[in-house]
Amino acid sequence: MHKHRTVPKLLSGLFALERRLPRHHEKYKFITEELYNTRAGYSGELEYDRYMKEVQTDFPHAVLHDLSLHHEGVYFQIDSLFITPDSIFISEIKNRADRIIVTANPTQFLQVNNKGESQLFRSPIAEVERKVQFLRKWLGRRNVNIPVKGIIVFAYNNQMQIEGEPRLPIYTSYEAPTFFRSLKPEKKIIEKRDISRIAIELARSHREYNPYPLVTHYKIQPHTLKKGVFCSTCTVPSIMIWTARRWECRLCGKRESDSHMAGIEEWFMLMPHKLTNQAFCEFTGIKDRHTAKRLLARSKLKQQGIGRGSYYELIP
Ligand SMILES: [Zn+2]
Repeated sequence: MHKHRTVPKLLSGLFALERRLPRHHEKYKFITEELYNTRAGYSGELEYDRYMKEVQTDFPHAVLHDLSLHHEGVYFQIDSLFITPDSIFISEIKNRADRIIVTANPTQFLQVNNKGESQLFRSPIAEVERKVQFLRKWLGRRNVNIPVKGIIVFAYNNQMQIEGEPRLPIYTSYEAPTFFRSLKPEKKIIEKRDISRIAIELARSHREYNPYPLVTHYKIQPHTLKKGVFCSTCTVPSIMIWTARRWECRLCGKRESDSHMAGIEEWFMLMPHKLTNQAFCEFTGIKDRHTAKRLLARSKLKQQGIGRGSYYELIP
């Protein structure tokens, strides 16, 4: 394993955004759906990774999960990669519930729910073929010439019905390990040490997709978000008050000194402006700018500028 999957920035940001968006907000429904889909996508990918842990082969191989690569001004995102001595496989992981019917000639993907209602969805084959082209060019630029292939994986072990022969292999997460185990690399285009070298180079070139600040990403007016520092213990959003040098939750009584740290993290996920002393006061509900200054000073941030115009940045 050369690269693990980590919680996507988009998902962490959406959790924060959903909590700060008032229920009556015009984008509330859309954001809750985004959160639901992003969370489902991520858990489907983790499910796939769990199955892939079992894969052992008698040929050298490398596995990399979740890569965002850049080539000639275009970013492309790969759910999972499997490198063997004679080819590289891109797995495109799909999160769809229900039964899936795939037909070749013409290629169609159909989702059928338990009421028998069916819905066509966009073929993931074209999507993965585009990524295959990209990766081929990316590797070519580094003088690695090896066939790149794609496979489609349905994450939730859906009931599948495949008619005809689609252009790419289609499996469920459960079947994917068997597919990779049964590969029989015919020639050694790359040696074991090359596999490792390519995997390291790919992992090093990964640039995590950064959608922050989310209010800009989703075209939401920053002032429409709820302000305040939330209690981390209460399950319903409860705003904490700064009193007697501590944050205090009026709901559960929890007291702690560094609750604002989570608020600062959320600021950088959501807000488009600079974090000044005044902005910090407005966002957290702190009334005294000297208290704010003290809290900001011990928040592991980098202060830029001096006096009234100074602001704080995350240390990269
Ligand atoms: Zn509480």
